[in-house]
Amino acid sequence: MPQAKDHVYLDHNAGAPLRPGARERMVEVLSDVGNASSVHADGRRARARIEAAREQVAGLCKARTRAVTFVSGGTEANMTALTPNWQDQGAPYYLDRLLRGATEHPSVAAGGRFPASMQEVIPVDANGLIRLDILKDMLAGGGPALVSVMAANNETGVISPLAEIGAMVAEAGGFFHVDAVQAAGRMEIDMDAWQADAISLSAHKFGGPQGAGSLVVRSTARVPAPLMLGGGQENWRRAGTENVAAISGIGVAAEAAEKEAQDWARLAALRDRLEAGVREICPAVTIFGEEAPRLANTSCFAAPGISAETALIAFDLERLSLSSGSACSSGKVSVSHVLTAMGAEEATARCALRVSLGWNSTDADIDRFLEVWPQVVDRLNPEARNRAA
Ligand code: PLP
Repeated sequence: MPQAKDHVYLDHNAGAPLRPGARERMVEVLSDVGNASSVHADGRRARARIEAAREQVAGLCKARTRAVTFVSGGTEANMTALTPNWQDQGAPYYLDRLLRGATEHPSVAAGGRFPASMQEVIPVDANGLIRLDILKDMLAGGGPALVSVMAANNETGVISPLAEIGAMVAEAGGFFHVDAVQAAGRMEIDMDAWQADAISLSAHKFGGPQGAGSLVVRSTARVPAPLMLGGGQENWRRAGTENVAAISGIGVAAEAAEKEAQDWARLAALRDRLEAGVREICPAVTIFGEEAPRLANTSCFAAPGISAETALIAFDLERLSLSSGSACSSGKVSVSHVLTAMGAEEATARCALRVSLGWNSTDADIDRFLEVWPQVVDRLNPEARNRAA
């Protein structure tokens, strides 16, 4: 159903709307019969659809087609990569520890299949960037490590120095996993330049369906032990009958996202206009990661005394969907671990709002946000207008 005109969706990092092309293909595929493992014509058609999608996803991240394994989403891709047990050049290879960034998504922060005793956290600086000096010492101080660092942060959009990290990891003889869930379709994906052994993708961040994703390896000679065991689907890398409709959807979305590089400049202009407008009303606003390279689509900011929890409700009443930097679990609102790791004060972190744009964001969306923002400020803390930067 098309979005009502008065509804403004500014939460693409939580989940981008499904692209019409992906929806159409999925509906078409849902009418198919057959299992992609069957040898008859119906099975062969399902198989062909999967292989077409594999090429489209490989195109998005400039990988070899065979390097793409379809999984149920970013969480499963991360969980698959985060294991001490890998195969390297046909032989088992065991990693001693997991080093992961302090601002990783919970699906990485949970450590996958590494026991807690084998996990270490790499701190970040005030802009959310990995402390390379500390990582260097950590790499030198123990056995072979799997290093897992996100390409771009889901809350702030801050982009990690992946080529530098990859070079350090390679020199130390470690393996490198990149959670590229927020990056795919929003910045250049270059596994070779990053020296990344594996990256994770999630379809619903770039306009594909929820519940679909990929783990992409740089070389099929260096792969993590499968998470799902059973049949030989996905070249023995992920057992279970394939979700052909979802896989077809991720393929179409990946192809569309790949063609959108020129859209990044448009999104950056929208984001910059939004931030300038926010700051005009509240000069003392904090924009997280402002000094670091950031995705063009993401802005995370906190205005003094404007509680994010209350502001979100005020925006929602005006039919604007955005997000806060805090997470609500079991009825308790917790402060963002990302902003805490960046050294933000708790009071500031509780005011953090996240606006994230994407393929269907328009100038009118920003106009509407900037129309409502002063009303929210006036209602929640009019003093914020007078506080100097
Ligand atoms: N990694 C990052 C950086 C994310 O932002 C998310 C989802 O928000 C995930 C992983 C998990 O992806 P999925 O929702 O497909 O399980």
